[in-house]
Amino acid sequence: MDLSILANEIETSPTLSLNEKAGLLRKKGEPVIHLGIGEPKNETPITAVTRSQELLKTRNIKYGPTSGQPALKQAIIKYTEENYDRQVSQGNIIVSTGAKQSLFNILLSIINPQDQVVLLAPYWVSYPEIIKLGHGVPLVVNPEPGTFQPSVKDIESSINPQSKAIIVNSPNNPSGLIYSDEFMAELVDYCERRGIYLIVDDIYHKLVSDGVQPSPAYRFTNESVDNSRIIVVNSVSKLYGMSGFRVGWVVANADLVQAMTKIQSQTTSCASLVSQAAAEGALSGAQDVVEELRMSIENNRKLMIQHLDTLSKVQITPPEGALFCFPDFSGYDNDSTKLANFILEKALVVTVPGIPFGMEGYLRLSYAGSSSDIIEGIKRIKWVLDPDADDEIIMGEKKVIRDWL
Ligand code: PLP
Repeated sequence: MDLSILANEIETSPTLSLNEKAGLLRKKGEPVIHLGIGEPKNETPITAVTRSQELLKTRNIKYGPTSGQPALKQAIIKYTEENYDRQVSQGNIIVSTGAKQSLFNILLSIINPQDQVVLLAPYWVSYPEIIKLGHGVPLVVNPEPGTFQPSVKDIESSINPQSKAIIVNSPNNPSGLIYSDEFMAELVDYCERRGIYLIVDDIYHKLVSDGVQPSPAYRFTNESVDNSRIIVVNSVSKLYGMSGFRVGWVVANADLVQAMTKIQSQTTSCASLVSQAAAEGALSGAQDVVEELRMSIENNRKLMIQHLDTLSKVQITPPEGALFCFPDFSGYDNDSTKLANFILEKALVVTVPGIPFGMEGYLRLSYAGSSSDIIEGIKRIKWVLDPDADDEIIMGEKKVIRDWL
């Protein structure tokens, strides 16, 4: 077929294709456990449901302003004040169809063909592909050996005149790392001195464990939002468990927001008004829904670490936030794709290989699902990989014999 270079070069999101694979196996009646899941399992906050129902009842849902409904922007202004200690105006905000579209809008607004965007490994799988779709070039900086933390020195020495922006995601998908205050302070200072955009993907910023708090990048600058090169991305997908509503937003300087609005006006026009109403309901309703979600995820995290610890050759760096653990499985096999496929085939457990996150030898395991899935899923992984595990296991209704170790 005659397809564009872009269409041929771009990778399908491995997490979304794993969802499909797991769905097909489930349809066949296989007792699949999905530890690849990237979204919380909570119910939609009631205030989100009520607000969108009110709008639906008007039976008058048309196009809205490209950059977002004023009422939602007002809720975002309050959110920014409460969580970032920054006063912003409606002109500093653009609402989009999920944080993913926000990232597209940002990159299409700031990079020219062949400009580089720095990614800190391990990074979210979609960043390199979004950069490539914007005709940019991902420039990966690896962490210090044995850690998930890169040094600012390494970032500085990788950067060259073609480098336009750095993307930071803290808590991080896939590692769960929260970058230290010192690191964020140095990075903000460096970006300001060099005139490089710092794109801060904060979509997990309240999903933290053990009382660790990520420091907002804004804390380390004296510049106003309108003079700053810091761009903050948020969404209701993870903190409110509203991934299906597809609402994200950006807070940035007003000129950049205007450029992004121009681009969005030629793509999706505006985010769905029903979803924007739901997002406004979530942001302005009782915030204990976020805390409840955080606590259940924190409990699951504890369970996951405890059970992973029973595997003989896994190295765990305990996650500090987000929904994922990113253990080093290279003691079993350094080829993470091969290992994830083997685990899916033999144990019917979905995990995500580390390679598309920029780190081979690792697997991403999600603790966003149920505690029983975490316990059973890791028991099955151990059964598949560890010589000291039992030879037999019951999966669903079936007794399965292990004959490969
Ligand atoms: N950024 C990161 C780090 C993510 O993990 C995800 C989704 O998994 C997104 C952005 C996209 O979020 P949204 O669902 O709001 O588009």
